[in-house]
Amino acid sequence: MKAADLHCDTISELLYSKKSGKGECSLRQNDLHIDLKKMRRGDYLLQNFAMFVNLKKQKKPLAWCLELVDLYYEEMEKNRDLIRPAFTYADIIRNQREGVMSAVLTIEEGGVLLGSPAILRIMYRLGVRMITLTWNYCNELGWPNALTPEGAIADLRIPNTASGLSECGIEMIQEMERLGIVVDVSHLSDAGFYDVLEHTTKPFAASHSNARALCPHIRNLTDDMIRKLAQRGGVIGMNYCGEFLDPEFYQKEEPKGTLSQIVDQILYIGKIGGYGCIGLGSDFDGIETHPDLKDASFLPILEDALWKAGLGQAEIEGIFYKNVLNLYQEVWKG
Ligand SMILES: [Zn+2]
Repeated sequence: MKAADLHCDTISELLYSKKSGKGECSLRQNDLHIDLKKMRRGDYLLQNFAMFVNLKKQKKPLAWCLELVDLYYEEMEKNRDLIRPAFTYADIIRNQREGVMSAVLTIEEGGVLLGSPAILRIMYRLGVRMITLTWNYCNELGWPNALTPEGAIADLRIPNTASGLSECGIEMIQEMERLGIVVDVSHLSDAGFYDVLEHTTKPFAASHSNARALCPHIRNLTDDMIRKLAQRGGVIGMNYCGEFLDPEFYQKEEPKGTLSQIVDQILYIGKIGGYGCIGLGSDFDGIETHPDLKDASFLPILEDALWKAGLGQAEIEGIFYKNVLNLYQEVWKG
């Protein structure tokens, strides 16, 4: 079964490795969750590669983001026989026809835009097709759930329902829609989610989040959010992180998810929002190794588990890649 994954942190890991002098770590083959060989074994059609920037660690977030973009394109050049960047839906289809996988450039941390629509447009021209508005810190665009309205570190079960998007954030998501960049609400505050809903008209994504009803972590979505996102035609990428799967994550030092918890998430979200709103959002290389889905090559075991859970061909195909392709057709240009 072909697969399209909305979120991974692999490029950041490659850059950290390069900077730390541990030697060259390549996208083609490495010890991380994702490399091109593992993706081939997992039958990937497409992977979103996030340029993740930690605002507290990087003094120059835009410069760091551009280094990530450069590394991404260096890897794309070196590995044209296996993967090529996609900027349009037609690119994904052509890459598939030519027997190579597709890569999509995304940003995780809207702070790299420095609140500038001009920088946003330049990012679009560089190939960015999805932006996660915030990570776990406040930025020019708005607030994450990880902070209280007073700016303190939040209890991981108490969402921020008071502070959402700034005026700049609202202007930027509207420009993203005009350009054809997917707005991603993962990490965003609950208030911010509803601001996105109010101030956009196109489908949007929660690229790596699960359902809060099954695991009460603030990185997950409430039933109401799932319904509203689904009604809009958006997609929620299922996250394999133990913290967002295990309902008792807050009592454990190292919560580990199980395969059946991912299946339960899918069945639950399918019931609330319909199977058309579900995609994959592994969070590979940004999370501890999942005990079952150890890396990209293990994806077929999720497909098997979904068959065993009673889902049909159309539903599984939707979850694995078609819902994401539909989202891109709706939001991207071409
Ligand atoms: Zn993330």
